[in-house]
Parts: sequence; C-alpha cells; structure tokens
Amino acid sequence: PRRRPLDVDELYEGILAGNRTALARGITCVESEAPRHRVIARELLRRCLPHSGDSVRIGITGVPGAGKSQFLECIGKMLCDADKRVAILAVDPSSSVTGGSILGDKTRMENLCRDERAFIRPSPAGKTLGGVAAKTRESIILCEAAGYKVIFVETVGVGQSEVAVRSMVDFFLLLQLSGGGDELQGIKKGVIEMADAIVVNKSDGDNVQRTKVARGEYARVLHHLHPYTEGWEPQALCCSGLHGTGVWEIWEMVLKFCDKLKAENRFEDIRSKQNAKWFRSLLEQRVLEAFYSKQKESGLFLQLESDVTNGRIPVIEAVDQLLG
Ligand code: GDP
Repeated sequence: PRRRPLDVDELYEGILAGNRTALARGITCVESEAPRHRVIARELLRRCLPHSGDSVRIGITGVPGAGKSQFLECIGKMLCDADKRVAILAVDPSSSVTGGSILGDKTRMENLCRDERAFIRPSPAGKTLGGVAAKTRESIILCEAAGYKVIFVETVGVGQSEVAVRSMVDFFLLLQLSGGGDELQGIKKGVIEMADAIVVNKSDGDNVQRTKVARGEYARVLHHLHPYTEGWEPQALCCSGLHGTGVWEIWEMVLKFCDKLKAENRFEDIRSKQNAKWFRSLLEQRVLEAFYSKQKESGLFLQLESDVTNGRIPVIEAVDQLLG
C-alpha cells in the first residue's frame, strides 16, 4: 500500500503518544535533505523540544568487535525489563565516507529489535560527519519526546566521531577488550581522555582473570588523567555482554553519575553548554557553506585558488584579497 503523506500534527501526536512508527517517520524527516521534509522536521522539533530532556544520554564507543551490539542488546533488555524505554541511535561515519557501514548491520541486536519497548535506529547517511551528528542530535529530541528515558548513542571508536558523540551525551563509555594494549585496539589516547568509564568487556570463561588485570591497568591510567567531567573520577569496570555479568552495575554507575551532577546543579548546566556549542558549530557550518556557494560564482575565488595552488602569490595575500 502507498504510504500516506507526512502530516506534522499526526507525527507530533504519534510521537508524544510513544508510537514507534510515528517516531521512525519523524526521524526520517529529520534525516531527509528534501526541503518539504526539512519544513516538517523543523516544526516537529520546535513542538517536541519542550517535551524532551527527561532522559539520560549515554555515548558508547569501542572498536569493531569490542562487543558493542551484544552489550547494548544485554543492557537494553535489562532496562526494558526494569520498565525503562530504551532508544539506541548510531553515529557511523564510515557509512558517509565509503557507503559501507560498520554499525548499520541489520542482524545486530536481533532480540532487542523485537522488543516493543526499545527503539533502534541505524546511522543516518550523510556527506559529512558534522551532518550525520547533527541529525543524531535532533533524533535524540524526538526520542525523548516519545518517552524514551535512556538514549544510547553508539559509535565506532576509530575516528573523529567520538568527539561528536561526546558533545551530545551526558555519560561517555568506552568498551575495551583485555590484552593487546591500546595501540592494537586502535583506540587513541584522546578517546580515553573523554571517557567517564572504561569497561573491559568479554569478562567471561577463560578471559575473566585477564580482564581483571586489564581493569586494574585502566584504573591506574584513568587515575592520572584529568577527568573529562569535572568532579567525576572515571571508573574502570569489567562486564560480559554475553552473560550479563557486571552489566547492571554499569547502569548503577551511570545513575550515580547523574545523581551527583544533579545534586550539584550541574547536569542541566552541562547540557546547556552543549547546546550553545552546537549552535555555534551549526552556525559556522552554515556560514561557511553560504560563503563558498557565493564565492564559487565569483571568478576571483577560482583565480586566487589557482594562484596559490601554483605558488604565484602567498596564501595570506590571496585570503586578504578575497575578504577585501
Ligand atoms: P561490535 O562490533 O563492537 O558491535 O561487537 P559485537 O557485539 O558484534 O561482538 C563481536 C563478537 O564478539 C561477536 O562474535 C560476539 O558474539 C562476541 N562477543 C560480544 N560480547 C561478548 C562477551 O561479552 N563475551 C564473549 N565471550 N564474546 C562476546
């Protein structure tokens, strides 16, 4: 059957009622580049914003194979069973660059996918990481308006996307494996510095002892780093996403983190600052886009670009000429 056209009132009411289909269609609008979808998306976001915010936003990263999807399936199920509705959004820059996707695999989180209380959304396609991340931020608002109290934003721990995800979540969790060392796991020191917790995963079977040793090592490393979230000493834990051991403790740690920040009146403050930053970065992106699209029509830009490319004039002079 042909899909009915999108209607803002219907989408909005559906989302507020917690209807998953309406939420999915709302996010499709948010992700779309079509002007008519953009209009609907903006109106939806405007209406949903007052109903958003009552949630905990958790970023999760780790290299492919670290066990992110297994872990999310496990903790997602536990939270659903505890009457918390869970949304899982992905930021996967690989899909925008190569067309392939590391996180978007349909077979991931099969059990959770079937759970009515969970909402899982693969990464939006997009030309730039900034564009993909902006859409995820907007999707978070819609998910919260739909009553999802726990929002996971998942990303692959191999590039710039962690920085983008860090800037849109309250708590940032790094999933690691024991053994191999940081270099082998492809995790940059910068990612460790952004973490509120490092969880050594696959702590089961023969691996338990090794993960405990690794946990101790990470605890020492973290102890010497400046905490990303002021006043919260990043924790090192073990868990098994496969068997569920240690997983509920991770949720309890996140709650403790939120309680602490709320007691100090800093939880909302941090989110406000994130919004202010988001505003600036979106603005900068737009200003640049507008600038370039205007310059492309002027011959001067192309002329100067060719001049600096061929070394005919200094770069600084070309920039000064262009900006008058
Ligand atoms: P992702 O790429 O980070 O999402 O990793 P996956 O969740 O797809 O897991 C990669 C592989 O590790 C799969 O074969 C999983 O079955 C396995 N795996 C995931 N979590 C665990 C765990 O807690 N214990 C063990 N032993 N294996 C796990």
